[in-house]
Amino acid sequence: MSDITALVSKLSGLGFNDTPVEHAPVENVEQWAEALSTVSGLPAEYTLTKTLIFKPKQPKSEAMAPVVVIAKHDSATNSKAIGNELKLKELRFANDDVLTDMFQTAKGSVSPFALANVSKENIANVRVVVDKALLNDSTGNIAFHPLTSSHTVFVSAATLQSFLKSVEGLTHQIQEFFDAGIRSLGVKNCYFPMFVSSKVLEREKDHIEGFAPEVAWVTRAGSTELAEPIAIRPTSETVMYPYFAKWIRSHRDLPLKINQWCSVVRWEFKNPQPFLRTREFLWQEGHCAYLTEKEAMVEVYDVLTLYRRIYEELLAVPVIEGVKSDKEKFAGGVATTTVEGFIAATGRGIQGATSHYLGQNFSKMFNIVVQDPEDSGADRPKLHVHQTSWGLSTRTIGVMVMTHGDDQGLVMPPRVAETQVIIIPCGLTAKHSEEDRRVVSDACLNVEARLRAVGVRAESDLREHYTPGQKFNHWEVRGVPIRVEIGPKDLEKHSVMTARRDTFVKAPVALEGLESSIQLLLVTIQNDMLVKARKTFDDRVKIVLEWNEFVPVLNSKCLALIPWCEREVCEDQIKTRSSRDSLGDEPEDEKAPSMGAKSLCLPSKQPTNPPIVHGETKCIQCGENAKRYALFGRSY
Ligand SMILES: [Zn+2]
Repeated sequence: MSDITALVSKLSGLGFNDTPVEHAPVENVEQWAEALSTVSGLPAEYTLTKTLIFKPKQPKSEAMAPVVVIAKHDSATNSKAIGNELKLKELRFANDDVLTDMFQTAKGSVSPFALANVSKENIANVRVVVDKALLNDSTGNIAFHPLTSSHTVFVSAATLQSFLKSVEGLTHQIQEFFDAGIRSLGVKNCYFPMFVSSKVLEREKDHIEGFAPEVAWVTRAGSTELAEPIAIRPTSETVMYPYFAKWIRSHRDLPLKINQWCSVVRWEFKNPQPFLRTREFLWQEGHCAYLTEKEAMVEVYDVLTLYRRIYEELLAVPVIEGVKSDKEKFAGGVATTTVEGFIAATGRGIQGATSHYLGQNFSKMFNIVVQDPEDSGADRPKLHVHQTSWGLSTRTIGVMVMTHGDDQGLVMPPRVAETQVIIIPCGLTAKHSEEDRRVVSDACLNVEARLRAVGVRAESDLREHYTPGQKFNHWEVRGVPIRVEIGPKDLEKHSVMTARRDTFVKAPVALEGLESSIQLLLVTIQNDMLVKARKTFDDRVKIVLEWNEFVPVLNSKCLALIPWCEREVCEDQIKTRSSRDSLGDEPEDEKAPSMGAKSLCLPSKQPTNPPIVHGETKCIQCGENAKRYALFGRSY
């Protein structure tokens, strides 16, 4: 999108209708104010802005990761402060080459709209910082140069946000999104082998105790029994950490941050379920080592935030952030943070992804040490490094499917849908000529090409011998977010018919400006799906203050937030007392599960009504002092 007409067409789809104002070319904000003062018919109040493009100091081997700052003209935009905030080194103004090559713009004409010129491969590396003053702008008229300094457009804060979302929104898939996210945390991708010897696997006692029942062992090669069985990794701590001990020699080797995308095997006997609980699953596992606990904890939560964003922003699945109880935490770790999801159809909670602080347990077992940089004495004490590990698996897909699916099949959130728009020729009967048919199928291909040109993943279904109804079913089951129907009557009216997969709502859309309308509709569907799922989740989390309400709440397919003592023995009792076998009660719904409830997490955001009063509020199960609210539920 390099000309103003195309830009305005895109903005009009986002609710922006005015054409840009033309004036003399300007070089700074004073000249800009001056130039606008001579133009008549402008809004009474408007806000001037500046858009700055910075670049951090990076190794040459890394993809360039510029930072775009969009701010009110008089807001402070100190590059050092912004760099510190983003944890980026030596942020400097990007040179002219970056502006022209990456953003197709030039000094003096830089605006947020230059983001639309960045290629799909590069946009994942661009960070956008928006001044709060603009997001709270009350004039409704924020002034920008639309790609050239001789023009000005006025947009509202809402339009600006929609535009930024639409630029970013259609490019990332889970892996791309996460890789870009962890790259910005300085994590590098790597790969380690899948086989691990029993000696190494069993080095950390608590760890192997936690995993032992699920480890798959290779005992035979062809017809030869192996002298020593070899394990298939259930996770890679013990595979990687002997190498950490070799690589980390000095505090200057820290932090060490690596990630691998791989499959792991956990031999599950009870109830394997596609995507949710499978013996082999694909995941990413990140492993980092730090000098201090403080640095390690910052990263544990940075990664947890990325996980939450994957669920909420890509998959439109709401989650609750929190910490696991001691009983449920990662075997061998110190603390496990988690994002917890909810499957409304069964009323069960599901662990979404976890980020662990491992403390020094593994570094002690694997002897990963550095010398204390604070101490220069001859026999400086050795320090064990502080470690983290974090993982997200294909379970995400299962949670997404179960959150949004309906009786017609899958409902895909637009941002992750492989096909976002399916175009189907319609309204053709026996009385239509070959020529009529050709006009309709050409129109389908033309719409497909136009949508693809702006990055929408569109496809036409021109298969013969299938009725439109059969095609509708085919794509509905697969959850394609938007169906576009094109027939002779639509073409007469210069429009097409759209149908949303999530709501089944149908609406005509003009062929003119179709690209923007469809992009906006995709953003709308994405938002609506999250809002709907969040409402369901919120409605089904109940604060429970009496034990006798606990099981009925579970039986009505809800999760319970209870004041809890955080003791393991109490957690075991809750599980036993809430399993249906022990109760002999009847569920309110046949499909409600019968297993006992587990603690899902201690939510980071604690309920405040009523608050936990220390020394006063009691655990609802055992009557001991309650420490925090815990989320309990039947789960996967
Ligand atoms: Zn208790």
